[in-house]
Amino acid sequence: MSGEFALIDLIKQRVKTRSDVVLGIGDDAALLSVPNDHHLVVSTDTLNAGVHFPEDTAPENIGYKALAVNLSDLAAMGATPAWASLAISLPDTDVEWLEKFLDGFFELADAHSVQLIGGDTTQGPLSITVTIHGFVPVDKALRRDAAKPGDEIWVTGSIGDAAAGLAQWRARGLQSAKLRHRLDRPTPRINVGVALRGIANAAIDISDGLLADLSHILVASKTGAEIEVCRVPMSKPLLDHFPDDRERYRLQLSGGDDYELCFTAPAHQSLAIEQALGECDVIGTVIGHIVEGLELKCYDEHGELFELREKGFEHFSRSIN
Ligand code: ADP
Ligand code: MG
Repeated sequence: MSGEFALIDLIKQRVKTRSDVVLGIGDDAALLSVPNDHHLVVSTDTLNAGVHFPEDTAPENIGYKALAVNLSDLAAMGATPAWASLAISLPDTDVEWLEKFLDGFFELADAHSVQLIGGDTTQGPLSITVTIHGFVPVDKALRRDAAKPGDEIWVTGSIGDAAAGLAQWRARGLQSAKLRHRLDRPTPRINVGVALRGIANAAIDISDGLLADLSHILVASKTGAEIEVCRVPMSKPLLDHFPDDRERYRLQLSGGDDYELCFTAPAHQSLAIEQALGECDVIGTVIGHIVEGLELKCYDEHGELFELREKGFEHFSRSIN
């Protein structure tokens, strides 16, 4: 057991420095320099035990995910990450737990050259809030309000694995390690977001569910969309564990936590997009297109309308327990 300042010292020891941090952890606030001709891009996300991750999640994975979900928001803006702050509420001063948490956090921070520049350490129910800061050249951000009728709708990677991992954990039956890994260690698509600057129109990361997040683009852009559910890409573990089409579609459309990107772009950009994604070693798939009007319609493999009762995760409606 040790006090707040011993924990902060432990955290501080792990930090790798960047030249644009004038003053990091240790003063009342950090001093930072933003490059010329760039906007500062800032986003915050909280992970609460039992809501954003199962209570049995390994501390390394909680640390990794707390940063990953924040990096994913910057990816969806086309931003390059630079700095993070970490507000952590811990039930007790468990140094062993914190060390493992920091292993996961700094594994991802170091991989993206993100410097931890401050935070807050308090006692309470386990909760982690990260604020991420990054840069995007002026006028190059990928925004939710920029989709245009006729745009193709793309997603990166495969969709539904994280929701499938969560569904298996809830059912307390057979659990695929690969699906659970996608839930615990999402890959933020930072290089994809950067590569899509000037090519894609609108973008969002898929955290609450494909349809729920796509709806945010549609509302912001005042457009509608048509999706072909059989074109939504799936992984082999997802198909192996959820062979029933309807059940799998439900996980892919309304399950969240994949942290893939969903973006829209004019059809004439498709070659440029294939090239950009290829350089990032990430697969992209067109799943539908943006239309006039405000409706989101899904069609099955027979061209019939596919209706879903629940669109995605919304806070205050349910939790993962
Ligand atoms: P203050 O009382 O001025 O708010 P604190 O005692 O909370 O300062 O924190 C001391 C220093 O340690 C500050 O620079 C703060 O940003 C940093 N810090 C505190 N907790 C964390 C944390 N969990 N991660 C990173 N930095 C932290
Ligand atoms: Mg403080």
